[in-house]
Amino acid sequence: MSITSDRPATLPGAVIDAGLFDAQWVDGPGGYTGVEPTAEWAEEVRRLARARNATLLAHNYELPAIQDVADHVGDSLALSRIAAEVDSDEIVFCGVHFMAETAKILSPDKRVLIPDARAGCSLADSITADELREWKAEFPDAVVVSYVNTTAAVKGLTDICCTSSNAVEVVASIDPDKDVLFLPDQFLGAHVKRKTGRDNIHIWAGECHVHAGINGDELTAQAESHPDADLFIHPECGCATSALYLAGEGFVPADKVKILSTGGMIDAARETKAKQVLVATEIGMLHQLRKAAPGIDFQPVNGRASCPYMKMITPAALLRALREGKDEVFVPEDVAAKARQSVERMIAIGNPGSGE
Ligand code: SF4
Repeated sequence: MSITSDRPATLPGAVIDAGLFDAQWVDGPGGYTGVEPTAEWAEEVRRLARARNATLLAHNYELPAIQDVADHVGDSLALSRIAAEVDSDEIVFCGVHFMAETAKILSPDKRVLIPDARAGCSLADSITADELREWKAEFPDAVVVSYVNTTAAVKGLTDICCTSSNAVEVVASIDPDKDVLFLPDQFLGAHVKRKTGRDNIHIWAGECHVHAGINGDELTAQAESHPDADLFIHPECGCATSALYLAGEGFVPADKVKILSTGGMIDAARETKAKQVLVATEIGMLHQLRKAAPGIDFQPVNGRASCPYMKMITPAALLRALREGKDEVFVPEDVAAKARQSVERMIAIGNPGSGE
């Protein structure tokens, strides 16, 4: 364990004032700690962001304090598109590493920082570029469709990216006679296969350990004890298949089951007439849902579904990023150019949807 000083850093071309906030952080096993998200901390974060001409982006699964201090909160793709549009020198992406890479791919001229580059993703890590090369060699004529939860190197080997809200549309746009390699999420893949009715779709057996842990038994028990609640379910969840089964068998009214991306959940929260909603996704999402629709009682299907990688973006890590200009995200230009094409092809199909 090491103590890191809070010495202010300078960015080429910019001077970062020392400021009055006196804090130091500790680099421990779970990431940077030792800084409380007080009002002074938030003020210092905002001051440093202005001094760096940085835009702060936070994913829906971040800690509430990180979401509240950010300029924009949303899903991974929406945030990456904002990153490309804003007029700032730097993007500080409070999310996991593949998300910051996607922002860099879409904004190659901006400096992109992630407060802790060790914040990975079990789903993105479930397929490497080498594994994808080998899979492609088995199906040389297949079209590769990758969910946005993939590394830049995997996106660089992909024909079309997809998000959880447009995956069905993207696969349906592909010549029905062509094989499709769908990766990396098996639950989203099963959802797409069911919806498109294609039997030439091959699905990589990857999963997110957080979403896979939200299982059908929990969902069934919760749905039975809250019969009037709507069910908002992310398609990466292990229970998504169970939810469709429960609806199909009439255990839960079909109109109460909504398979939604995180961005779609916010829209649905504003529209639903339900007084209570059971939410099957990472628990950080509850913060934005409660803000979007304060009159609704949102309850997690599994209150332990917390992503340890997202929670590595601590108040200490964010302060360190802004003071020291770390950790910078790099994507080799040749990889970024190919990855950008796969994202742009998805956007050209129509509904750009929203990522995790
Ligand atoms: S919740 Fe799962 S898919 Fe999302 S960042 Fe965490 S590990 Fe990855």
